[in-house]
Amino acid sequence: MQKTIQKSQTRAILMRKLMTICPVCGKLIFGRDIDLDSIYKSEVNNWPITYTHYHEHREHPLHVLTLYIDANFSVRDLKVPNSLKI
Ligand SMILES: [Zn+2]
Repeated sequence: MQKTIQKSQTRAILMRKLMTICPVCGKLIFGRDIDLDSIYKSEVNNWPITYTHYHEHREHPLHVLTLYIDANFSVRDLKVPNSLKI
């Protein structure tokens, strides 16, 4: 019971956590913008994981970021692809 409460509180904090700022458009990317549940549920043996995030913001059309997320759910690094076709 106690563990369940702690986990939900941690999740609530992570949802509000500022993960990074997109270098392309300046959008603030919070934990809620990332599918934390899928990371929680997957058994990760090798951190950091890569996570692909896409969004459009202001005058910037849809674009993609690859985030490198460590075991503390912090973004260690990110990459913007030079080109993309969806
Ligand atoms: Zn962006």
